[in-house]
Amino acid sequence: MPAKRFRCYRCLPPQGREFDADTPECPACKAGPPAVVKLTLVHFLFEHPQGAVVGWLGRRFHLACQPGQPLRNYPHRPMPASGDPLAVSCPACRQTAEHKKALEGCEAFDPLLPQE
Ligand SMILES: [Zn+2]
Ligand SMILES: [Zn+2]
Repeated sequence: MPAKRFRCYRCLPPQGREFDADTPECPACKAGPPAVVKLTLVHFLFEHPQGAVVGWLGRRFHLACQPGQPLRNYPHRPMPASGDPLAVSCPACRQTAEHKKALEGCEAFDPLLPQE
């Protein structure tokens, strides 16, 4: 499975079309940079008593797509992860029941509207 995720802003403006690939070429319109940008994967954190990620005040969390795994550090910064379901871009995290449940709790969420 390709490890990189991109978004093409020539397709479906203003949200753009997301796709997974090895190279930044849109499979739909064949555009490349600067219309195509590489996305940072933001993972979803959900609270769980056995979570491997320990947060403030001893609260524990699971990474939705890798439960039981601690946050891996990238070379220069911590692994991006958020408890805000709207900020999540990891496709595997978006497939999880926990993320879908959290999204349902977001009254403001409308998949047809561009997200801030
Ligand atoms: Zn495109
Ligand atoms: Zn993830």
